[in-house]
Amino acid sequence: MTGSRTLIGTHVTDHAPCFGDEDFAIADDRWKNGTELVAICEPVLYVCGGCPYRAACIRQVVPAKSLFTGICGGRIWLNGAIIHELPEADSSELPVPVIRKSCGTAAGSRAHRRAVEQQCPRCLPHYRPGPNPLDAEEQAAQQLQLPDAP
Ligand code: SF4
Ligand SMILES: [Zn+2]
Repeated sequence: MTGSRTLIGTHVTDHAPCFGDEDFAIADDRWKNGTELVAICEPVLYVCGGCPYRAACIRQVVPAKSLFTGICGGRIWLNGAIIHELPEADSSELPVPVIRKSCGTAAGSRAHRRAVEQQCPRCLPHYRPGPNPLDAEEQAAQQLQLPDAP
């Protein structure tokens, strides 16, 4: 795991393949937006692919709650949201779901999604992927580039 904004130098274990790897420590001044963050992190994300500690990594950092930015558990996070992940990243690696009154409905599923936790069995049929913050970022950038109306 890495991320310069939180938990500098933390690790699940010194056996983790990212331990001591400087490429996993992304300085804040190296990126300005999520697209740039992905461009820096993606080339080293493969290291998480062979890591047996992905779930433990996420349990330790609790990226959604800590609004983590950086690489953790096979995913690239931006302020606690997943913006990119390995194909082999599995939802079973996310924290176990909190059971809420809304469970069994679309709202319950969204609550799990917002907490970046597993879907409970009753919510699973209602699951829909959420928007990626990178898409909103791209849309905002495109709008900035639109010429003024005559
Ligand atoms: S899952 Fe990735 S970031 Fe976490 S300990 Fe393993 S290699 Fe490091
Ligand atoms: Zn549920």
